[in-house]
Amino acid sequence: MTEKMNRRNFLRVAAAAPATLGAGSVFAASTSGTPAPAHWDYEADVVVIGCGAAGLMAAVQAFDGGAKVVVFDKGMSPYHTSTRLNGGCFAAVGSRIQKEHGVKDSPEAFVDNMSAYGDGMTLREPALTYARNSGAAFDWMVDHGLAPGMWQPYNGHTNPRTVRQKTYNGKDYIDVLVRECNKRGIKIHHDRALQKVFYDEKANRVLGVACGNCKVTETAHAAKGVILATGGLTGSPTEVGKWSPVLSDAVTIGGGANNGDAMRVVIRDVGTPITHMQYFAEYPDALATGPGRGPQIRYQYFVDEGAMLVNKEGKRFVNESLAPTLISPSMERNSDKSMYLLMTTDQFERATKKYPFGALLSSPQWTRARWDTELAKGRVIVQGNTIEEAAKKIGVDPKGLLDQVAEWNQTVASGRDLKFGRTKFAGKFEGTHFFMAKINVWVCLSMGGFKVDKHLQVLGWNDQPVGGLYAAGETVGGIHGAHYLGGDACGFAHTSGYVTGRLLTGQKVVI
Ligand SMILES: Cc1cc2nc3c(=O)[nH]c(=O)nc-3n(C[C@H](O)[C@H](O)[C@H](O)COP(=O)(O)OP(=O)(O)OC[C@H]3O[C@@H](n4cnc5c(N)ncnc54)[C@H](O)[C@@H]3O)c2cc1C
Repeated sequence: MTEKMNRRNFLRVAAAAPATLGAGSVFAASTSGTPAPAHWDYEADVVVIGCGAAGLMAAVQAFDGGAKVVVFDKGMSPYHTSTRLNGGCFAAVGSRIQKEHGVKDSPEAFVDNMSAYGDGMTLREPALTYARNSGAAFDWMVDHGLAPGMWQPYNGHTNPRTVRQKTYNGKDYIDVLVRECNKRGIKIHHDRALQKVFYDEKANRVLGVACGNCKVTETAHAAKGVILATGGLTGSPTEVGKWSPVLSDAVTIGGGANNGDAMRVVIRDVGTPITHMQYFAEYPDALATGPGRGPQIRYQYFVDEGAMLVNKEGKRFVNESLAPTLISPSMERNSDKSMYLLMTTDQFERATKKYPFGALLSSPQWTRARWDTELAKGRVIVQGNTIEEAAKKIGVDPKGLLDQVAEWNQTVASGRDLKFGRTKFAGKFEGTHFFMAKINVWVCLSMGGFKVDKHLQVLGWNDQPVGGLYAAGETVGGIHGAHYLGGDACGFAHTSGYVTGRLLTGQKVVI
């Protein structure tokens, strides 16, 4: 006889059969109830957990909608988040800047791009909510003092829609949101990790939360709802490796507090499924200067100057002009899971004239002097007076590489890359001094998390929305599908915060 399915049974089944959650046994479900405490430390309309772009934007919007807002965060500062670390690229449809550039676009076209890029795995409804409100969210940031960015079309978006901050990082966003929180007197309660969600199972309604550390616990009642904005998993290389073993030795970067523990609490107390946990944004651009660490080398800027990507055998293996996250799977199939950038010193110097050095290495700490120090170590960057010398130093087959360069020069002369379909050429590969860099996988974004509906309301074990529970930012699963399109994670974090904060307080959003 089939056992009647209810939340308890869902939790029991989910714990016994991790595949239901797409998880390993890391998430143990409890069947205990979560009744409200006898006394609440805070009475709020909206409780926000997390203070990255998603959380702060949600808090400000809810406040402006008249809500009493309480924000809890496990970390010590909004400047320790993935948002702060990010590359400063925001994708939006219908923003003023997009209109000023005369681009004709639509939310549907945006989601079609996301879906095509994400191997059809994008969850269309919440993705459309992002697309429909992204222009308004971006314009809100601009209206509140976001430093002017550069209109910088990104591969994979058929219509240009990305703006890159001139600093190439996310400090600009956090500056705006912290300033707006301060103006409104919104206090962030730091060092307060999510410990419990109080859930009335009969009424299917989240009542509030408990947050704290090993010494203190504080409870907050949420009359209108709780917004989970606790980021993804990339603060923890261990968690990333658990969900995707192929990434166990990848360079992983993200807000230090982001390890999925909030997800575990919500699964335990409410019984929410999670989805798309095996997907991460895997960039083929880590300069792994140490185990699991190192900057991101923006090899594309060197490729634009005519540099080549080869494998350990010295052979090209991919169309270098593809968007980075589409190159990663090919790189991971190489014999040593790496790829090698070969460039002439002229190509290198040309790129350094076009971009700040910290942008080429995606880190303000990476100066030319630091590059030279790493070069002197001769581990991941080398220099040679000949191609053979550079190849030998970095461990690439010199003969294979020389043959490849000769073949490439014929390809350039013919103007047709019959093997891989590269269409942009920057002249023959010729020079007298060469750099080579060894490149590995770099992970900065997890794409799995809570399942949400078009209102960004978290879905429960029965695929129905859980009353009073919303999610925003990287903790939401399935927005990007299997691959992420540049600018969409930052765009989604801000926009989902914008949408949830406004929805909970009855303000206008487009659903
Ligand atoms: C290096 C890097 C570069 C990137 N570049 C880009 C880019 O250019 N464009 C783009 O679109 N995306 C980019 N991304 C991804 C994008 O920045 C993030 O997806 C987005 O900023 C996430 O915002 P968030 O508010 O969801 O999470 P975060 O900004 O990480 O904030 C999460 C918050 O939750 C808190 N928290 C975590 N766990 C708990 C808990 N248990 N209890 C309470 N609080 C908790 C954390 O302390 C933190 O304050 C990049 C990411 C990184 C790391």
